[in-house]
This record gives sequence, structure tokens and C-alpha cells, in this order.
Amino acid sequence: MMKELLLEADRCLLCKNARCKANCPINTEIPEVVKLFKEGKLDEAGAMLFENNPLSAVCAVVCPHEDQCKGNCIRGIKGEPVSFCEIEELISNEYLKKIKLEKTAERNERIAIIGAGPAGITLSIILAKKGFKVTLFDAHEKIGGVLRYGIPEYRLPNSVMDRYEEILLALGVKIRPNTLIGPVITLDKLFFDGYKAVFIGTGVWNPKTLDIKGESLGNVHYAIDYLKSPDVYNLGKKVAVIGAGNVAMDAARVAKRSGAEEVYILYRKGFENMPCTKVELQEAKDDDIKFELFKAPIELTEDGVKYIETKNEVKEDGKVVTVTIDGTEGMFECDSVIIAVSQSPRKNIVANTTGIETNKWGLVLTDDKGHTTREGVFASGDVVTGANTVVHAAAYAKVVAESIEEYCKKD
Ligand SMILES: Cc1cc2nc3c(=O)[nH]c(=O)nc-3n(C[C@H](O)[C@H](O)[C@H](O)COP(=O)(O)OP(=O)(O)OC[C@H]3O[C@@H](n4cnc5c(N)ncnc54)[C@H](O)[C@@H]3O)c2cc1C
Repeated sequence: MMKELLLEADRCLLCKNARCKANCPINTEIPEVVKLFKEGKLDEAGAMLFENNPLSAVCAVVCPHEDQCKGNCIRGIKGEPVSFCEIEELISNEYLKKIKLEKTAERNERIAIIGAGPAGITLSIILAKKGFKVTLFDAHEKIGGVLRYGIPEYRLPNSVMDRYEEILLALGVKIRPNTLIGPVITLDKLFFDGYKAVFIGTGVWNPKTLDIKGESLGNVHYAIDYLKSPDVYNLGKKVAVIGAGNVAMDAARVAKRSGAEEVYILYRKGFENMPCTKVELQEAKDDDIKFELFKAPIELTEDGVKYIETKNEVKEDGKVVTVTIDGTEGMFECDSVIIAVSQSPRKNIVANTTGIETNKWGLVLTDDKGHTTREGVFASGDVVTGANTVVHAAAYAKVVAESIEEYCKKD
């Protein structure tokens, strides 16, 4: 493996104005890291990656590289782009095994971090290293957020998250699992107990609905719920997944791997409109997921999905819109249905306190440095941006870390 990756590194042109770096949302120093790797300086390369992005080991695996580093590699214009992510994965995994972080200072301020997903983990590591007293709360039993309770194990092993937990504990972070902030412990209670600043990184865990009849039936499930613990579901032999984003592909592939004989993606548009990445689509096809395209669901029943056929139509202004075709209603028979049409935030925190404004979708409003509308309360990650990516959550958490540090310097 090492030999292959060194050959891959040799193909890197170490560009001065590297397009791969420019298109990485967290600005990974790709040429520098490749150079260190070629010189055999794995520890230095690992430290450089971790310092810039504590979730480098995760991003190496789950980022949509085809739109970022790999998709913008200069070598890709005429041939095969350099697969930096594989080099990053090896370096970061090795580094995570031996990493020993030290606090650079001791500080008295206590910071509450709500949500142990990519945003909360990144922020906890940065602030704990700076010496803040960090408490990390999560409604789930274990840390990781979507990394543990959404992305399937075969894509990202939970052992990676276990390692992050060890790192956090070694840095002195106090972890409170199974603790839903909002109804019992409110934000006001956190301030009353002496936390200097509070960070909300609670993600988006309410499934968006199709708003059609049948969503509460016993054979219908939401992907975000299903992916939390697929083993407890009995889906039957034939499953329809409605939606065509990455979450839909994950749900479909997990259903197939969990024993469903036939799994279909039902989508109201064509392949070219699918929001999932090309890689995820290909992997779904490789897993023998089938596709029923240009079908819009109109009702969910115990026998399957009632749909109407659709088509793309070019409007006068040149825009392509998908419209339903009258008289084409049909029935797609299946044992169970999984709805995967995105997620929105839950209101546990904002509904139990005052001063935190949200927009019409329930997303927490912040400025570009992560300040919410309430003093001392910060937010980032999906709860601010809406469903996004791991690397964006990590990148924005770095900005919020600076804001919290700045805020704590006051008084
Ligand atoms: C199935 C799925 C697959 C995905 N695949 C990819 C991928 O391959 N690559 C990629 O880059 N992105 C992917 N994403 C998106 C990515 O995972 C998210 O953008 C990212 O996890 C957002 O991080 P976050 O920290 O904001 O939120 P989350 O990861 O959602 O973490 C939020 C945490 O807050 C906790 N929480 C919520 N409310 C409370 C509360 N009131 N009190 C205490 N704790 C609370 C939750 O339990 C959760 O642990 C995927 C998303 C899903 C759903």
C-alpha cells in the first residue's frame, strides 16, 4: 500500500498555486503534505494535517473529493487526477494512532459545547488545546453525530470515532452523553451554572416530509431515523427509497446490505439531476440498487407507493422544469418505504430559551464568525447552514473557536 501511495505521490506536480488546495473548503496544504510524505516525514505530515483540520482522518474518507481536491487536480485535465485523499487517509490514520496533544495554556473559562458531531468535536479539540474547560453534551450515547449515527459503518468505521473520544478525554474534555439540552437543561441553566460561552452544533435531525398521505404508516420510515440503527428494522424483501441525495444512497445501500432482496430509488427526475455525488451513485449501482426515475410519489400505502409520472419540460426562458403527466398514476408495490428528502433542525434549544433567532427553516442565524443573536452563544455546522458536509462543519468550527476565544478575552 505504502509503495502504491508513494507512486501516487510521485505523480503530484506540487503546484505552486495548487488548485486542489484552493478547492478544499478547509484549505489543506496538499503539496506540502505530499512533499513531506515523499520525504518519509509521516509524523510531520500528520501533524500538519491535524493542525489544520482535526477531522482530517474523517475527511480523507467521506469528503466529496470529486468536487474538491481530486476534481480540481491539474493532472485530471488530460488524465487521471492524483488521489490525495488516499495519501491523507494513510497519514492521518497513522497520526491518530500515536497522537498526544498537549494544552498550550490553562484557562478558567468553562465552555459548553452542545452536539458532538463534526462541528462540536472540532471545536472541543481546538478549545481544549487552548486550555478552556470544555464540556461536550450530546443527546446520543456516543460521540460522532452523523459520523456515527448516519454514515454507515462500511464507509466510516466507528472505531475512528472511538479514537476521537479517547483524544478528547485525554485533553480533559468532559463528555455528557444521553443529555438532550433544551427541555431539562436549558441554555439559561448553562449560564447559571457558570459556563462563559455556549456553542450550538446540533445539526439537522428532523426529517423533511413529503407532505403526502401515508407517512405515518407502519411500513414507512425516515432515512435519518433508519440509519441510526438499521438492525432494529424489519423492512421486508422489497424496499423503495424516495429521494436521490447521498442520504438516500446510504439508506438504500444499507437496506440492501441488511438483507432486503430488492431496493429501488424512486426519484421524480433523471440521473443527471440527482443531488448525490457521482461516486455515491456508482457505488449504489455496484450494490445492485435499482432506479425508478421520473416518478413523483402522491401517496404512501401499506402496499407501496402511489405515484404519478413526470417529464422534463423546457420553458420559454430556457429553464428546464420537471412536470407531472396527467393520467399516468401508477402503483409501485413494495414492502416498505424509506423517505430521504433532507433534514431540518430540531427546536429543543431555541424553543426553551429566548434571544436566539432562527430563519423560516429553523436554522440558527449567525454572522460569518458564528455569533448568534444572543450574547455568549455561538453556533455553526448544519444547524446554521442546513444539511452540508463534514469538511464545512470542521472549517467553520475553526472560525467559531477564534470568536469564542475573542469573546472570553472580554471583561
Ligand atoms: C446519512 C448521511 C450521510 C452523510 N454522508 C456524508 C459524507 O459522505 N460526506 C460528508 O462530507 N458529509 C456527509 N453528510 C453530511 C455531514 O455528516 C454533516 O454535514 C455533518 O455531520 C454536520 O456536522 P454537525 O456537527 O453540524 O452536526 P451532526 O453531525 O448532525 O451532529 C450534531 C450532534 O448534535 C446532537 N444534538 C442535537 N440536538 C441536541 C441537543 N438538543 N442536545 C444535545 N445534543 C444534541 C446530535 O445527537 C448529534 O450528535 C451525511 C449526512 C447524513 C445524514
